[in-house]
Amino acid sequence: DRLLDIRKHNCNPMTFKVTYYKKPVFINQGYMQWLWDVDGRRYLDLFAGVVTVSVGHCNPKVTEAAEKQLRRLWHTTAIYVYPQMQEYAEKLASLFPDPLKVVYFTNSGSEANDLAVLMARLHTGNFDVITLRGSYHGGSPQATGLTSNADYKYPIPSSMGCHNTMCPDVFRGLWGGSHCRDSPVQTIRECSCSPGTNTHTYTQSFMRAYHRRLSFLYKGHCQANDMYIKELKEMFATTVPNRIAAFFAEPIQGVGGAVQFPKNYLKDTYRLVREKGGICIADEVQTGFGRTGSHFWGFQGHNVLPDMVTMAKGIANGFPMGAVVTTAEIARSFGKGVHFNTFGGNPLACAVASSVLDTIKEDRVQENSAEVGTYLLTELAKLRDKYEIIGDVRGKGLQIGVEMVKDKASRDPLPPEAIAEIFEDTKDMGVLIGKGGLYGQTFRIKPPMCITKDDADFFLAVFNQAVQNYME
Ligand code: PMP
Repeated sequence: DRLLDIRKHNCNPMTFKVTYYKKPVFINQGYMQWLWDVDGRRYLDLFAGVVTVSVGHCNPKVTEAAEKQLRRLWHTTAIYVYPQMQEYAEKLASLFPDPLKVVYFTNSGSEANDLAVLMARLHTGNFDVITLRGSYHGGSPQATGLTSNADYKYPIPSSMGCHNTMCPDVFRGLWGGSHCRDSPVQTIRECSCSPGTNTHTYTQSFMRAYHRRLSFLYKGHCQANDMYIKELKEMFATTVPNRIAAFFAEPIQGVGGAVQFPKNYLKDTYRLVREKGGICIADEVQTGFGRTGSHFWGFQGHNVLPDMVTMAKGIANGFPMGAVVTTAEIARSFGKGVHFNTFGGNPLACAVASSVLDTIKEDRVQENSAEVGTYLLTELAKLRDKYEIIGDVRGKGLQIGVEMVKDKASRDPLPPEAIAEIFEDTKDMGVLIGKGGLYGQTFRIKPPMCITKDDADFFLAVFNQAVQNYME
């Protein structure tokens, strides 16, 4: 009734903010890869609640596990021991090679990344964190600092904690000026007015922009890796000589628009960061749990072993949960300090997550992600060759980006109004997809991993039609 009420009032933006679609969709129900709105219209969901519903909406196996646990025990906090947490922690840890064997639970990806930064700083005794241009690592104040895209930073005045209103660090960082957009690598560190605090993080542009259209550069240029590594070395030699706590990267950038790194980029970067005393953190919030098809974890596709892995989203198919997995040595850095999280790893979350892992295995979900993902990538590449405005198709498994451009020669991003038109049209024809990229120019295809080849064909037909409609 409330939904209908909101609709009747035509989504007054003061009471209900709808940002994604011009004409909002009111979802009422879901089953596997399908969603139904309040009017009973069916949609093929290719965005999975932002890459979260890994094994399908209301997946019967997971729902049954949740129902069972709902009747047994919901919550006690980790000050007591309960089997669901122990069992799930062991199950999760078994998916990593040694020495990644210590698990911490949180409720979200942002919390997991906050905890990872804290542990990295405690372990190394250093403060600076390097993240990459185009990255998204969360919405908490600290995780927003890790995130590169200025669109996610808010104009909070510098009086937030730091009383020096002229503090250039705080001012620039929290306002997230355009300098963030130009830097492929950024660090966050304390503001110079309030050393020792970590709310005063700021992003800094160390390097000139290579190129506006970063994703093309990432993909196509064989010398790109050498160039990035050279720039990183320069950064270490000049700006952050020996105080690096951590390097953060998503194995394939998610919100950034399925951006992939050149071969060996992560391997070379991990080596450099470790040489400088920092640890390497893989943010698997989007890429974990079989999403990339070929590997269960995205980092495995890069031949690296992180010191810490953060995860959330697909871990519990939409039930709020996050986790950090690290080594015993790093975990010991907590010393006498306590990590406490009231809801983190509660019995219900653990029971759901455990059932998600079983389902991924039993239903060959990762294999399906590889198969349908490869099919989609191949077919989308044909559309790219057909249409001047599809500049790039990239990704792995069911982590796919379709970058829209004005034309292939300029590679300038297709303007937001045009993106919105195609996006809206796709929805009206019954398919929900996502958007991302630094300029919002990349469509994101990241469905529940149970979709079939027939679903892929339906989407391809709809998308082809939407692009054609726009071109006419
Ligand atoms: N890391 C990555 C790679 C993400 O995509 C996201 C969410 N989009 C986060 C962290 C933050 O997760 P949450 O929204 O659960 O806090």
